[in-house]
Amino acid sequence: MNTTKLLIIGSGPAGYTAGIYAGRANLSPTLIEGMQPGGQLTITTEVENFPGFPEGIDANELMEGMRRQAERFGTQILPNMVTDIDLGTRPFHVTLDDNSHWTADSIIIATGASAKYLGLPDEQKYMGQGVSACATCDGFFYRKKIVAVVGGGDTACEEASYLAGLASKVYLIVRKPFLRASKIMQERVLSNDKIEVLFETNTLGLYGENGVEGAHLVYRKGENDERQYDLPIDGFFLAIGHHPNSELFSPWLKTDEDGYIITEGDSPRTAVPGVYAAGDVADPHYRQAVIAAASGAKAAMEAEKFLAQ
Ligand code: NDP
Repeated sequence: MNTTKLLIIGSGPAGYTAGIYAGRANLSPTLIEGMQPGGQLTITTEVENFPGFPEGIDANELMEGMRRQAERFGTQILPNMVTDIDLGTRPFHVTLDDNSHWTADSIIIATGASAKYLGLPDEQKYMGQGVSACATCDGFFYRKKIVAVVGGGDTACEEASYLAGLASKVYLIVRKPFLRASKIMQERVLSNDKIEVLFETNTLGLYGENGVEGAHLVYRKGENDERQYDLPIDGFFLAIGHHPNSELFSPWLKTDEDGYIITEGDSPRTAVPGVYAAGDVADPHYRQAVIAAASGAKAAMEAEKFLAQ
């Protein structure tokens, strides 16, 4: 049995910042990296809005810097995943994917969120064969090809703009008659000649013999002028939001209807004393690296206070 005073689960901005703060407080935390070391940011390219980098910074470089900073202050980083957890005992009990067992006096949950899919059977059928939820990971394969991005938020606009730099044509499939994205992202999309926005449009399915060759779309579904048609495309990118990675913890912690962990006010305190939730797993609203980092810092400060008692 391994023991630690503080176990941090997750390696995005929230997890690493918690590691930096807890390390500096001499808590010798242990951080479990999870499936995607560095978190969601590592699948984007440039981060333009993290303070302190006026020219922007490569996302992987930013996360690598946070990781090294956490290690510098004594955070032990393990390349594992948590497979089981018991928050009903003291100390808390955690099992990792290498079958090792850990006890922890305090836990910071910083497991982030993952991309959502529409739920069409065709998404599974063509997964990796034209369907993707990460333009920066897979965009390269669609150079000079035709792609579609689904969604009307900042992520969709960002992905459409990124893909427009590679593909010959990008359709943005938006279910409402307007974009939800911030003004600056909307302007970027609407002024890009390669991007065509298909408002009030939903996807019914995908077709193709060898991978995606097109999408079955419907314009103004349920209205008098409803029109169904096929759009030839080579790639279909989802950018319709995320769901929090909170399933492991839901037997013990309160979550909202979308699964986000509910914390006390704007603190990272959960209903279980000594357990904190930081970053996107508890944030349905902002989903920003700088905000996740700040909540990781708060969680570490709370854990320090709890452990001192
Ligand atoms: P959002 O929740 O903001 O947007 C999701 C989009 O997907 C909406 O347009 C929504 O439509 C659409 N959508 C959801 N479900 C479906 C569905 N079943 N079928 C079709 N369309 C669907 O998610 P984002 O990931 O874009 O952004 C999340 C947060 O992260 C936001 O706060 C955003 O500002 C932030 N962000 C900031 C960035 C930056 O500052 N650089 C970059 C990326 C994200 P509808 O509008 O109809 O609900």
